[in-house]
This record gives sequence, C-alpha cells and structure tokens, in this order.
Amino acid sequence: MKLSLKHLILLVALISVIFTLCSSTLSGYRISQKTLIENTLETNRVYAQKLASITDVFFKMTLQTLELSSKDISLYMRNDKFKTKLLQEADRLKNQTNTFNSVVIVAANGEILATSPQTLNIVGKSLNSTGGQQALNGKRPLISKPYLSITGRLIIFISHPIFDEDGKYLGLIGGTLYLKEKNILSEILGEHFYKDGSYVYVVDGDGRIIYHQMQERINDHVPQNPVVQQLMKKKSGSARVTNTKNVDMLAGYAYIPAAGWGVVSQRPTAVSLAPTTDMMKEMILKSLPYLLVSLILILLISKVIAQPLQRLALFTESSTQNNQDESLKTVRAWYYEAIQLKKALTYSLGFFHDKVDYFTYQSKTDPLTKLTNRRTLDEETLKCAENGTPFSIIILDIDHFKRVNDTFGHTKGDEVLKFLAEQMRGVSREEDICCRYGGEEFVLLLHNMNSDEAYQVAEKLRMKVESTVSPCGDIITISSGIASYPVCTTELAVLFEMADQCLYEAKNTGRNKSVAKK
Ligand code: GH3
Ligand code: MG
Ligand code: MG
Repeated sequence: MKLSLKHLILLVALISVIFTLCSSTLSGYRISQKTLIENTLETNRVYAQKLASITDVFFKMTLQTLELSSKDISLYMRNDKFKTKLLQEADRLKNQTNTFNSVVIVAANGEILATSPQTLNIVGKSLNSTGGQQALNGKRPLISKPYLSITGRLIIFISHPIFDEDGKYLGLIGGTLYLKEKNILSEILGEHFYKDGSYVYVVDGDGRIIYHQMQERINDHVPQNPVVQQLMKKKSGSARVTNTKNVDMLAGYAYIPAAGWGVVSQRPTAVSLAPTTDMMKEMILKSLPYLLVSLILILLISKVIAQPLQRLALFTESSTQNNQDESLKTVRAWYYEAIQLKKALTYSLGFFHDKVDYFTYQSKTDPLTKLTNRRTLDEETLKCAENGTPFSIIILDIDHFKRVNDTFGHTKGDEVLKFLAEQMRGVSREEDICCRYGGEEFVLLLHNMNSDEAYQVAEKLRMKVESTVSPCGDIITISSGIASYPVCTTELAVLFEMADQCLYEAKNTGRNKSVAKK
C-alpha cells in the first residue's frame, strides 16, 4: 500500500489524539497523586499536632496536680505520725486522678515514705531507680526518660519536689506510667490504630519509642529515622519516609514541649494513593466515547482534506493514457493548495494534450498536401486486413508531371499537388483515406468497396481533374491503377504491386485513364 496524504493526516491526528489523551491522563494522575500526598501529609501533621497538644496539656496538668499535692503534704513530711496522711494522699492521687500506675512519696534522703498501691511493698526502702535518682538530684519537676523499674517494668517517672515554707527540700511526690501496660498515654494515643496500616507512635528526646501500637516496639531506639531526627531537634512538620519495615509512609510529626517527646502519625503512601488508580481507570473509561467520536471525526476530516489532492494525483498518474480534462473539472478543490494544483494541472494537461495532438498529427500527415502519409496508410490497410474489412485501393499518378515542374517551376508543381489532394478529398467519403504515397503518387483507400465501385470513384476523380484548370493554369491529367482486398489477393504487398501494374498499364496505354485489376 502506498502511503497517501489521507493516511499521513490520519496518522498525525491519531498520534496527537493518543498523545493528548495519555498526557492529560498522566498529568491528571500526577496532580491527583500530588494532591493526595499533600493532603495526607497535612492531615497527619495536624493530627500529630493535636495529639501532641493533648499530651502536652496532660503533662502540664499532671505536674500541676503533683505540685498541689506537694504543697498539701509538705507539713506531714517530717513527722512519722502523719504517715497515714501520706498514704491517703498517695492513694487519692492514684485512684482519683486515674493518671498513674503507681504513686510514691519519697523523703529528701531517698527513703520511700508511702506508695499506692501499697502492695508494692517498698515503703522504707530507698528510691534508687534511675528516674527517682534523677528527680532527687534535680530537685525540680521532672518527666523522666523511660527506664526499668525495681519491679522490672519499663516505666517513666513524673515527679514534683516538696519544699517547706522556707524553701527547704523535703523530698518528692511522683507517679509512674508503665509503658507496656494500659496507661493514660495509651488511652490518649491508643484509639488511633486503623486497619489500613495507619498508626501513631511516640518517641522521647533520645529517639526511643515510648508508645507504639505494637508493644514489642516500645523501648526500641530509632534515632536514625529522619522524622525522629526532626523531633529530636524539637521540630514539627511532615515528611515522606520509609519505615523500618521498608514501607513508604506519609508522616506528620509534632513535638511535645512539656515532655521533650514527639508524636508521629503516619499512613502508608500506597494506601493514600489507592484512589488515584481507580480515578485513572474511571478517567480512561469516561474518555473512551470521546476518543471514538474524535477518531470518526478525524477519519471524515482527513478524507475531505485529502480527497482533492488524491483525485488530482490520480489524474496526473493517468493523464498520459487518457484525456481526463473533463473529469478534472469535477474535482472539488476547496482550499488554496488544491486550487493552485488544480489550476497548474489543468494548464499543463491542456498544454500536454495540445502538444501530443500536434505531434500525432505531424507524424501522420504529409506537410505539403495535409493528406495522410504512407506510414499511416500502411497501418490502416493492416488494420483492415486484421479486422477482415474488405477495401479497394486506387494508386494514382500525375501524367507528365515533370513537364509541369519544368514549365511552371517547382512551386507551381507543389500547388498542383495540393490541388490534386483537394480533388481527392472531394470524391472520397469521410471514412476513406486520402494518402500522398510519395512524390506525385497518391493512394485512395476505400473501405467496403469492390473493384468496380472503386473504378467508378477513380473515373469520377479523373474526369474532375481533367475538367478543372489546375493552379499552373493548365489542365493536368491523372492515371490510376485499382486493386481490391481480399478479392484480388490477401497479401498486402501483392495488392499494391497489382494496383501499381494497373497504373503502369494505364500509363502505357495512353495515360489519363483508370485500370482495375480483373
Ligand atoms: P509519367 O506520366 O510517366 O508519370 O511522367 P512524369 O513526368 O510524371 O514522370 P515521373 O512520374 O517519373 O516524374 C515524377 C516527377 O515528379 C519527378 C519530380 O520532379 C516530380 N516531383 C516529385 N515530387 C515532387 C514534389 O514534391 N514537388 C514537385 N513540384 N515535383 C515533384
Ligand atoms: Mg510518378
Ligand atoms: Mg507522373
């Protein structure tokens, strides 16, 4: 198949339609992906911030509660008589506030004065846990780092110092949170585990996990996590990160100033982006009918655009074989290029056909007399023989033509030749062929005529010439020889020889006569 303009237009249009569809779908996909990522990051950031604020408020309130208690019990700290008061206060703190897993009241020397629950059995012992030591040494409100308690639990210790009215340090009151057991933190943060893989976790200032939905992750040290690194720098925000299980996550994180901790709320990127795949499918499905309509339109338009040029091309291709000028007029050239091409083609085809006609005429015609030449006569007799058309030939020759030339000159001789040609046309029919056979010899080919009929024609011509004054001012005469096909012979060469012999006979028997082959 030849590559045509229609196919090219189709191809270009198809490529552009498909390209546009793909790029718009792809950019739609990218934009919605980007929007979803941004939204998820923002949602997680806001959520982490909210959790951080709640936790921060919780710690501040807890420290305030401890401060109030510390003031209430400062009077009872140095007197053993009030030990029950201390126990009551410890119980009250544990049970009423529902904040701590256990409460301790400790003297300045580290001796444990009271606990709740009392089942801990550590009253009278020395508080030498990491958090406790830290608090005793610091003599200030404290939220400790996670550490292993005497009872082997992972805990944090929240404490407030106790001072008398002179500002002398008397000890501390504090509560513990058991990180791996149900506590107030898990109540604040624990509601937030979703089945889609989203979760919340909390790290302390050293990058150690304090709260996680999976208990076994608690106390893991993850300072290399980029989000945790930001939290360790006391920053809040959001980021796309890969978690320890190599899952791509969209994380929001917020710093908790009261504790120096950080909350991270994160969701798997794949879960967040799932709607975009559905959206893509829907987009492609919805654009299919439009694609189909545009394809049909493209098909029609490309046909309308290409048709004039296609038809002009076809005419150019076949213009050498047929005269298509009339059909060329029917080509509807409706835009500039086609109009110009049609004009050029009409002009060049006209010019081309004129030239062809001219040369065809030249090749078939004798220039002096405008009669058919010998070659055309030979073709015509051959055609008749092939078709089986009967015909007769008259070979005629001017009598004593040399004399005409000699007496009146060659130019006059030429005029006499033209005069004879005219007379030949006068006696012949439309379908007959008048031929200048050479020099001053002529042939008349008469279709479907027998020898007698041809003889009549020869005689008619002879008499006409004889009775008309020729251009030289004199009467000229002619002699003719007649032979018929196929009656005389079926050999064309022999036929001409026979006619020639008859002519010869006419010449020899007095001239100005016609002789037909018997
Ligand atoms: P005949 O009766 O035997 O035919 O005598 P003739 O003089 O006609 O003799 P022939 O046919 O042999 O002479 C032919 C002459 O025709 C010779 C030549 O000068 C003349 N001739 C041939 N062609 C032309 C031509 O194109 N123009 C002119 N003016 N003369 C021609
Ligand atoms: Mg002659
Ligand atoms: Mg002659």
